[in-house]
This record gives sequence, C-alpha cells and structure tokens, in this order.
Amino acid sequence: MRPTRVSIDLNALRHNLQQVRRAAPGCRVMAAIKANGYGHGLIRVAHALDDSDGFGVACLDEALQLREAGITAPITLLEGFFDPTEIPLIERHRLELVLHHPEQIATLLQTPLGGPLRVWLKIDSGMHRLGVSPEQAALYWQQLKAHPALEAVGQMTHLACADERDHPSTWRQLERFAQATGDLGGEKSIANSAAILGWPTSHAEVVRPGIMLYGVSPFVHGRAADEQLRPVMGFHSALIAVKRMQKGDAIGYGDTWVCPEEMPVGVVAAGYGDGYPRHAVSGTPVLVNGKRVPLIGRVSMDMLTVDLRSQPDARIGDPVLLWGSGLPVEEVAESAGTIGYELLCSVTPRVRVEVTTKTTI
Ligand SMILES: *Cc1c(COP(=O)(O)O)cnc(C)c1O
Repeated sequence: MRPTRVSIDLNALRHNLQQVRRAAPGCRVMAAIKANGYGHGLIRVAHALDDSDGFGVACLDEALQLREAGITAPITLLEGFFDPTEIPLIERHRLELVLHHPEQIATLLQTPLGGPLRVWLKIDSGMHRLGVSPEQAALYWQQLKAHPALEAVGQMTHLACADERDHPSTWRQLERFAQATGDLGGEKSIANSAAILGWPTSHAEVVRPGIMLYGVSPFVHGRAADEQLRPVMGFHSALIAVKRMQKGDAIGYGDTWVCPEEMPVGVVAAGYGDGYPRHAVSGTPVLVNGKRVPLIGRVSMDMLTVDLRSQPDARIGDPVLLWGSGLPVEEVAESAGTIGYELLCSVTPRVRVEVTTKTTI
C-alpha cells in the first residue's frame, strides 16, 4: 500500500478547544469548520468539537452535511445565503445567517419567512471585504430587529491584521466597530484565532476560532508550541527509493538541484498530487526517521526528493513526516511562500486518513 497518509489527532483538537476557552474565558465559541474542517474532515471535526457552542461554515452545502450527520448544534453560515432559493432549507435546518450586504438584506426582507430565523449583521470595520458600512449599521440593525420573523442576534466584524500583534489597523477597526455598534444592543463577535490569542479586548460575547483549533499558530512567523497548541494533522509517508548519486548529478524536473558531491538521495512518496506544495523550495525541512533533512529539487506530482547526507543509513520504507508533531506546518508553509491554512486545506482526497486519539501529553 502507498505509505502516504494523514493522521488526525482528535485529542489534540479537543485540547486546542480548551486553549480557546482558556484564552477567552466566558465567551461562546463558534468553531470555524468550513473547507472540510480546514482539511481535517468536516463531520469528524464537528463530532470531536461537540463541546463548542456552535459551528461556522461557508455555505449551505457544508451546513447540510452536518445536519445529515446528526449535528444539532447551532450552525452559522458565515456569508449568509448566496441565492434566495437557499432560504427555505436554511429555515428548515435552523441555520443562522450572517447578513453582509444591503442587497442580501433586501432580498431576505422580501422573502416570506416562517421564522424565527437567527441573523447576525456583518459590519465592515476596515477589512473592506464583507459587511455593511459602519455608518449604515444602525439602519440595517433596526430593519432586522423590526422584522417579526427574524431574531437579530448581534453584530459581527472581521479583522484584517490581527495576526500581527499591536497593528494600528486592528486598533482602528476595533474603535470603528465599537462606535458603530455601541448603542445597538445585541451580542458582538469579532475575534478569529489571532484576535483570541493576541487581542483580548476583541473577545466580546462570541469568538470564532479556526486555525488554532487545528493546532497552527495564527501569527506571522508564529509557532503552535508558543501558544500551547498541538498540531492535529500529521502528513506521513516513507522513502520508496534511496540512491547514491555522483557529484554533478541533477535531481528531478528541470535539473534545478545538482549534487555537490557523491551523496545519498531519498525519494519520498508524496507530491503536489497529494497536497504537498510544489512551491516548497530546496531546503524545506522534511523529517526522515524523526530527523530533519532538506528537500532537494522540484516537488513532482507523486514524489519529492530529499538530501540524505545526514542519514547515510536511511533505507527504503523508513518513515517520513512532511508536517505534524515535530515539524510545524507553519515552517513548511514559510518555505513554500504560503500559510499553514492553505497547506491543511490542500491535502487531496487520494491521501488516506487515519484517525487517532494518541497524544495525552
Ligand atoms: C474562517 C473564519 C474565522 C476563523 O479564522 P481563523 O483565522 O482560522 O481563526 C473567523 N471568522 C470568520 C468570519 C471566518 O470566515
């Protein structure tokens, strides 16, 4: 069997939820499990996080999968509906909505509703992605409050720069949101993982952790261990070839890496067809037998190659870790010009999944 697989450690997931509770005591936790639970499996993550107060997803389809799997907890559609034909299903499955645009609000207000439908008003406090303007927040909030079939839960915003501590834009956004919502009543929700860990004044009533639940630091150049988070995903494979190359031999597509001396080179059964980033540069760390070796040459679809000079005894079948416990996905992401979020979401369906509850540190 091809040795390529991911392990998903459900105890680590639960530990990380406890870290959210520790960082934001007294807050309700809406766990972000969109994009297949950040690549960890939507349903499995929802079951493991049954201690959260609800879930946030990106679309109706994700919410319906959860309901079909028997998840009865509150589920919020973080971008609301995309199309009014979704509204009957949203009502039937008691999904909560984030309303972010005047047109979307107008559409909802024109739709016959059974109710009660729980809605959040999203305000653009400065990220300039989704949300109504702070100036119009009171107007829309009153419209939602006045509608007999709607239960206006509160106001929400999202921070653009919370992953950098003490960033002036975040202070400005918090200020703008406070000004726009101060008189409105209802609950407030601002904080993603970075804000939960780095911006305590943003916690309000409901926090929305995503990446920290999966054991990845939300901070630029951050590491999960610094936040007492445990990585949930391990990306494993093995050496399927070990060869002795001569000085001057080029390795892989494009001849981008040339052996500087006679040396052993290992071939690992994992490539971009599995979700390992093709842009990972030569030198990106890979663990062979638990020890670091550098990636060399281009990543191909099904394989990648490593420099085994530090492990001359390595053999076919030896275990390889591409990221996980002992090799932070944050570090691999930095070597590939991306962020851990993208790598976790990118593992492809052909990679076998092994669910564990092993770590008990
Ligand atoms: C995905 C998402 C989150 C979680 O963000 P992380 O950075 O992963 O913690 C929070 N809020 C909204 C609106 C989201 O879409």
